[in-house]
Amino acid sequence: MSSVLRLIIAFGLCFLPAKALPSTTMPGTHCPTLEVSDGKARQSLMHYVCYHTSPPGDPAYQAQSPAELPTDLTWTPARGNDLVFTQTDSVYWIQLDLQNSAAKTGFWYLRLSYPLLDDVTFWQSGASEHARVATGDRHSFDSRPVDYRYFLLPVTLEQGQSRTITLRIKSSGALNVPLSLVSADQAIAQSNRFTMTHGMFYGALLVLALFNLLLFLSSRTIYYLHCAFYITTMGMFMFAMGGFANQYLWPDSPNLANNVIPISLALCALAMLLFSRSFLEAGQNTWADRTMTTQVWISVGFLSLTMILPYSLTIAMNTVLGIAVISSMMAIAVVRCRQGYQPAVWYLTAWVAMLAGVLIYALAAFGHITHFLATEAMMQTAVGGQVVLLNYAMVQRWRLLNEKLLAVEHNARTELESKVHERTAQLRNTMKELEQANRQLAVLSMNDSLTGLSNRRHMDNRLSELHAEALRTGHPLTIALIDADHFKKINDTWGHSFGDNFLQMIAEILKQHVKRPRDMAVRFGGEEFALLLPDTDCSGAKRVCEAILSEVRKSQLETPEGGTAAITLSAGIASLAPGESTADLFKRADKALYQAKASGRDRINLAEKPVLSEA
Ligand code: GH3
Ligand code: MG
Ligand code: MG
Repeated sequence: MSSVLRLIIAFGLCFLPAKALPSTTMPGTHCPTLEVSDGKARQSLMHYVCYHTSPPGDPAYQAQSPAELPTDLTWTPARGNDLVFTQTDSVYWIQLDLQNSAAKTGFWYLRLSYPLLDDVTFWQSGASEHARVATGDRHSFDSRPVDYRYFLLPVTLEQGQSRTITLRIKSSGALNVPLSLVSADQAIAQSNRFTMTHGMFYGALLVLALFNLLLFLSSRTIYYLHCAFYITTMGMFMFAMGGFANQYLWPDSPNLANNVIPISLALCALAMLLFSRSFLEAGQNTWADRTMTTQVWISVGFLSLTMILPYSLTIAMNTVLGIAVISSMMAIAVVRCRQGYQPAVWYLTAWVAMLAGVLIYALAAFGHITHFLATEAMMQTAVGGQVVLLNYAMVQRWRLLNEKLLAVEHNARTELESKVHERTAQLRNTMKELEQANRQLAVLSMNDSLTGLSNRRHMDNRLSELHAEALRTGHPLTIALIDADHFKKINDTWGHSFGDNFLQMIAEILKQHVKRPRDMAVRFGGEEFALLLPDTDCSGAKRVCEAILSEVRKSQLETPEGGTAAITLSAGIASLAPGESTADLFKRADKALYQAKASGRDRINLAEKPVLSEA
C-alpha cells in the first residue's frame, strides 16, 4: 500500500521521531517464529518481524548476503508496529522466521506494499525456488518474480518445513516497509477488489483532465487549462507513487521511474499555484497575488533543480514545496472568502476535502485509527473529491460571472432605454419650440410689427395670386391705396411716437372694416395703407373706403399736452381691367390717390379706366 501521503508522512518523520518504532534496540529479544498455517498469526505478521539498522560503518552495512552478517548481530523486534524509517543512508536488514506445521504444503506471498524502494533483496533459506530475489524500483520491472506493482515473494513451505526470510533494503528518501503474508487467493482477491477502484479513479481523472482541456480550447478561459494541468500532474504523481507507472509505462527505465515522482510533485505544486492564481482572482499587485507569483517562480526553480539534484534531496525539497503551497493556497482562499469572493468558498471546500483525506490517512498511518481505512482508496477518494469540487467551483464561478454579466447588460440596456426616452422627449420639445419659432417667424415675416397688418412682401405675394385668379375667373379685383393726410405735421407737432399711435388707430379701423375672409389690409409704407379686395368692384371698394374715412375722421386721440387731435385719410381706388398687370393696377390706384390729395384730401377718388393699347 502506498500513497501520496505516506511519502509526506514519511518525510515528516525526518524531523520527528517515528511513533511507530521503538527508538532503541533491545538486545537479547527474540523474534518468535510465525506459524504460517495460522491465519491469525499471519495477520499479525509484524509481531514476528525483526529488523536491524546498519548505518555506514556498521559491519552489517557492507554485507551483501545474510551469510556475511556478523553472527552477534542485534535484531530488534517490530512488536507489531509498522516499519517506518527516517531518511538516512542506512541499510535495513529485516528477518522473519516461518514454519509450516500443517499436514500439507502451503503457498504464500510475502508482500511488500511499498513500490518506491530502491533496492530490495529477499533471501529464503533452504528454498529451491526464489532463494534470492534482487529487485527494487532501481531495477527493471522484470526483476520481480511476479508482474505486480508491489513486491511479491513467492514462499512455498512443505509440511513441517521452516524457513528464514531475510530482506536487505537500501533506499534513498524515507522508507516504509509494510509487510504482509497472504495466500495466492487473498492476493488475487485484494488485487481484484482494487482493479475497479483504480480503473475508475484514473479513468475519471483522465476524462476530467480532457474535459477541462476541451473547455479551455472552446472558452479560452485559462483556469480550465490549469485545472487540466493539475489533474494530469496529480494523476501522474499518484500513478507513479502507486507503482503503476513502473509497471505499465516504463518497466525498463528505472531512472525515469524514480525521477518522475519528484518531477510530478513539483509540477503538481506549480499547477496548483497557476490554477489558484487564475481562479482566486486576488487582483494584481495584492499581497496574495505576489505570494502566488513568487511561489510559481520558486516551483519553477525547484523543478529545474529536480532535474540535476539527487532523488533523495529533490523528493524532500518538493514535499516541503507541496506542503507550503497547500498551506498558503488555503490561507489565501480563506482571505478571499472573507473578502466575499464566492467561488473561493467552493475552492476551499475542495481543499478541505483533500485535507480531510490527508488527515484520516495520517491518523491511520500513525496507528490512531483502524488500518483498513488507510488505504490508497482513501487518498484516491480525497483527490477525486477535490478534483470534482474544483470543477464544481469552476462551474459556480462561471455561473457567478454569467449572472454579473447579465446584470451589467440589463443595467446598460435600462440606462440606454431611459437615455433614449430622455433624448426623444428633449427632441420633441425642441421640435415644438422650433415649430413655434418658425410659425412666429412666418408671422413676423408677413406682418408689420407696429400695426399687425400684413406687410408689403405679404401683399406682393397675395396680389399676384389674386391677380392670376381674377384673370382666370374674370371676377373683379379692386385695390384701394389709403394715405394719412398731413401726417408729417402730426409727427412734427407731437413727436414720432404719437404719430405711431395714430398709425395703430388707423390700422384698427382698417381691420374692423375689412371683414371678408379673403380681404386683406396692408401697411406697405410709413403712413401708407392698401386694401386688397377680391370679388369686389369699384363701388364696393368705395363703400368700404367711405366707412373707413368716416370713422377715422370722427376718431380723436389725446395729445401729450392733454388736448385732442384728429386725422383724415385720402384713398385712391382701382379695379383690375382685363389683361392689366398688377404694376399697372397699382399705378392707377396711386394716381387716383394722388388726385384725391391734390383735390383737397379727406376724400376718395376712383381711378380712371386704363387706356387699352391697340395690339
Ligand atoms: P400728405 O400725405 O397729406 O401729402 O402729407 P404727408 O405729411 O402725410 O406727406 P409725406 O408722405 O411727405 O409724409 C409722410 C410722413 O409720415 C413722413 C414721416 O415722418 C411720417 N412717417 C412715415 N413712417 C412713419 C412711421 O412709421 N411712424 C410715424 N410716426 N411717422 C411716419
Ligand atoms: Mg405719404
Ligand atoms: Mg400722407
